[in-house]
Amino acid sequence: MTTYIQLAPCPFCGQPNDAQTATEADSNPPHAGALAMCWGCRCIGVFEDGPDGLEIRKPTPAELEEIAQNEHVQRIVQAMGMNVVL
Ligand SMILES: [Zn+2]
Repeated sequence: MTTYIQLAPCPFCGQPNDAQTATEADSNPPHAGALAMCWGCRCIGVFEDGPDGLEIRKPTPAELEEIAQNEHVQRIVQAMGMNVVL
């Protein structure tokens, strides 16, 4: 299911993102702390609450470690050719 959000630029390439598509049918809509994958540069960011709605920021080193250890996320990263920028 695709959820439309306020325009949120990718923190890596600047592409304006205005939608999020869940990777599982029962996934929650985008929320602070959820991963955001940019279709422009295929980098992984993290949603956070901003003054006007959801924004996307670069993952922290701790979040990158979680991403690297999460088998579900790694399968998606490999299947979609996504980038995890350290
Ligand atoms: Zn991007």
